[in-house]
Amino acid sequence: MAFADLREFLRCLEEQGELARVCVEVEKDHEIGAICRKVNDRAGPGLLFERVKGYSVPLACNLLGTKKRFAMALGASEGALTEEWLRRTALAPVSPVLAPRGACQENVFVGNAVNLLKMFPVPIWNELDGGPFITLPIVISRDPETGVRNAAMYRLQVHERNKLGILMAPYRHTEIHRRKASTEGKSLPVAIAIGTDPAVALAALAPLPFGVDELAMAGTLRGETIEVVKCKTLDLEVPATAEIVLEGEILVGERREEGPYGDFTGYYGAKLRRPVIEIKAVTHRNNPIYHGLYNGRPPTEEQIIRGLPIQMDIAKRCPLPGIKKINLTMGGCGAFNCVVSIDKQFEGYGKMVAMAILGSWGARFVKTLIIVDDDIDPFDWNQVEWALATRMQPHRDIEIIRDIVGCILDPSLPYEERRTGRSRTSKVIIDATRYDTAEFELPCQPRQDVTEKVNRNWAKYGVGI
Ligand code: MN
Repeated sequence: MAFADLREFLRCLEEQGELARVCVEVEKDHEIGAICRKVNDRAGPGLLFERVKGYSVPLACNLLGTKKRFAMALGASEGALTEEWLRRTALAPVSPVLAPRGACQENVFVGNAVNLLKMFPVPIWNELDGGPFITLPIVISRDPETGVRNAAMYRLQVHERNKLGILMAPYRHTEIHRRKASTEGKSLPVAIAIGTDPAVALAALAPLPFGVDELAMAGTLRGETIEVVKCKTLDLEVPATAEIVLEGEILVGERREEGPYGDFTGYYGAKLRRPVIEIKAVTHRNNPIYHGLYNGRPPTEEQIIRGLPIQMDIAKRCPLPGIKKINLTMGGCGAFNCVVSIDKQFEGYGKMVAMAILGSWGARFVKTLIIVDDDIDPFDWNQVEWALATRMQPHRDIEIIRDIVGCILDPSLPYEERRTGRSRTSKVIIDATRYDTAEFELPCQPRQDVTEKVNRNWAKYGVGI
């Protein structure tokens, strides 16, 4: 069953012992970031900061910070998450239903009444961040040519009471909309929803192809069509039960320095001139809850919500036989390193699978791809390293591919390429599967029947583990 809104999800998390309420007063800048850093390092619970100094609005974060809670957001079990994701995203998207009114518009502020610095507790998360950053905004726009809707997540820096900075890579869908509007000399209208049913946020994060309406996909992901309402000042619709909605436009021709910001790579990145959104209206529910996310060096919630949809998308786009498990690793920022186990169909198959994976949209950030046999668990680094140590010959099993589109936030790329967005990366395939499998040496282990007997009688040995 789908959650109606963020509040229902919070209740569910609390019932399952997955939410901690922070009742003491906290500072929105730096203190919330420091608490989140610690909680992320310990794979801790979702957090609801009830008293943020100077604000009446509470702040929820780390709600999707573990695979378990990510699965809970979709009403799936952790073990069946990939299967459920693949099944649901294969269904036809269901267009949202237009409702006459929605809770997200219980309070309306227009023009000079808008003050993003005062209305919501938007934190400065990491020490050198250039300002407060909105970290879980669902940015909704329409293609100026086709009218097709897009919903996606970007970091938004609060520049002043009604101006936000936005970072969009050249291949991002909202940026494609912005460029189309801009060539006609027009601003791009955008509606920004904050604090929705988590399935809507996950649909916005999913690596869906250009031209797919993520709000429609949200309906199939959550198993129930979502309701939308018309914005007050724009010809766009937003999820009816969102906690907060910002209405505005990406200004044509205006750029302002945005950043630095501690992002999912674990680095601050460059402060650069980037597009600006002017906010014309803000609407929110009665007693709204602000929804944010701490971002930084892994492990954080960001790598979970960024990495899991990509990992599952790779499984979806590479239907070659024998692919067993895919791990887009946490330490690889949920983006850059990937380990895949395969049932090797024939010699040379490891590199063939690797090429198929690297050619998929979801894997476009993957730089290091390790292929292992299916007796190796890609999620156990000791096992992966053992395969690298004993089954791989560098001169034979490593391939480097040069000048493929890379991530503009990858600190290892030249500054100029990150600045201009012309980022190109190289990629390495490491085939750590057994070479000539049939003749490969056998892994050693004690006798199977005796091992089973030992297991049955384990207590009597008194080893105590
Ligand atoms: Mn899209």
